Amino acid sequence: MYEDLCLFIDGEFIKGGGRREQDVLDPATGNVIARLPHATAADLDRALAAAQRAFESWRSVSPMERSRVLRRVGELTRERAKEIGRNITLDQGKPLAEAVGEVTRCADHCDWHAEECRRIYGRVIPPRQPNVRQLVLREPVGVCAAFTPWNFPYNQAIRKIAAAVGAGCTIVIKGPEDTPSAVVAIARMFHEAGLPPGVLNVVWGVPGEVSEHLIRSPIVRKVSFTGSVAVGKQLAALAGAHMKRVTMELGGHSPVIVCADADVERAADFMSALKFSNAGQVCVSPNRFYVSDKVYDAFMARLIDRAKAIKVGPGLDPETKMGPLAHERRVPAMLEFVEDASARGARIELGGGRIGDRGYFFSPTVISNAPDDSKVMTQEPFGPIAPCVAFKDLADAIGRANSLPYGLSAYAFTTSTRNALALQNGLVAGMVHINHAGGALPEYPFGGVKDSGIGSEGGSETFDGYLATKLVTQLE
Ligand code: NAD
Repeated sequence: MYEDLCLFIDGEFIKGGGRREQDVLDPATGNVIARLPHATAADLDRALAAAQRAFESWRSVSPMERSRVLRRVGELTRERAKEIGRNITLDQGKPLAEAVGEVTRCADHCDWHAEECRRIYGRVIPPRQPNVRQLVLREPVGVCAAFTPWNFPYNQAIRKIAAAVGAGCTIVIKGPEDTPSAVVAIARMFHEAGLPPGVLNVVWGVPGEVSEHLIRSPIVRKVSFTGSVAVGKQLAALAGAHMKRVTMELGGHSPVIVCADADVERAADFMSALKFSNAGQVCVSPNRFYVSDKVYDAFMARLIDRAKAIKVGPGLDPETKMGPLAHERRVPAMLEFVEDASARGARIELGGGRIGDRGYFFSPTVISNAPDDSKVMTQEPFGPIAPCVAFKDLADAIGRANSLPYGLSAYAFTTSTRNALALQNGLVAGMVHINHAGGALPEYPFGGVKDSGIGSEGGSETFDGYLATKLVTQLE
């Protein structure tokens, strides 16, 4: 049975009461599968007040207890991965194996935060006089407001919640209205794990209205958002006007550089697997392929073969390797990228169109000779489109890879240590992966530079955005 959708405020699961509701759709059919209640302004204020109250005690709860709660949520996540994954497939569309994989990997995020939160250390600064003590303390910043998107509904939410809860903060999160089941499931597990009321609150609504309400509130001390660059800039500007800390995990336009000396088959296999996973709706999806002219034909042939072999269908069908796009609005967005590239002289080697008229299916698409100024080479497609172009000189390829305002992730394939070094040093990105596809492991700091955002989630950096530094000096 699909998740029973509700708000979660001050430890209470709430629905009904005449609240406005919206439909939740199955993107494989377009059918309505549930109704999601929106928070009223009074609900938002109640969530803020609960988070503020809860902070007064949660900030001083032992890290051992915070760790216990997070570890328990990790256990529950593993136990319920199949059921939660199935609901993600229903509202988001990705194949069941991918959805269950997303949830299971999130149990590791819970474990990582459970371990790391016991190691939030301060430091002692050696004094200039023997009768002085100088300490640096790291304290939770307070109530956080978080906004998470629909592409990895479990992953994007748990990373923010685990970081806030582990650091001793409290949080009001607005999850993705199109794919709400995962965030409600997370709330249930934290509740069962014994998280005190008010530490985590889940609200839903019209995104712009909810974010404005929460960010303007003097109760909120930190804002964390994952989503598009345009919305991230708006929210960061609002947070800046109220001098609030931000973590911004925004879009990217990840380049892939395949050198003449690369293992071309490995490059095509790794990159096609990543490109078409979650139907390309991944912020670190490889989006621009710069391939040495010496291996261009071989790489293209293998990439096209791989893309051709992908079975597109409903996520619950065990044969399916790629599900539908998550919303109807993404279909015309994809068509626009393809039409623009074609009009500028690129060749559509594979796909390029919608599949059927029920559900939001789009073909795995490979484009060759994509001009550098085409839409698909400059704006994040966030879909299953792989545009490729040949290069002659590596330095030139690195320059073109760095030419956009984005800087999230970058990929490169080479067997030369000299090239690998040039790529590591030259690519301007928060994450550079050479000869493999990287990933979002809990021990990796995940984040971008330039327009792709501010701050990292995961890694030993994971609590940085949720802690304030306090200097204490004491004279005997
Ligand atoms: P969008 O910009 O309308 O929304 C992106 C996300 O931000 C959604 O989850 C939405 O609910 C939320 N959002 C929108 N306006 C908001 C506001 N004022 N306050 C708070 N949250 C708000 O775009 P879309 O059509 O939903 O998605 C397409 C684009 O979003 C993609 O091109 C991609 O760049 C970006 N995106 C990025 C990620 C990521 O992981 N970085 C995830 C999902 C979407």
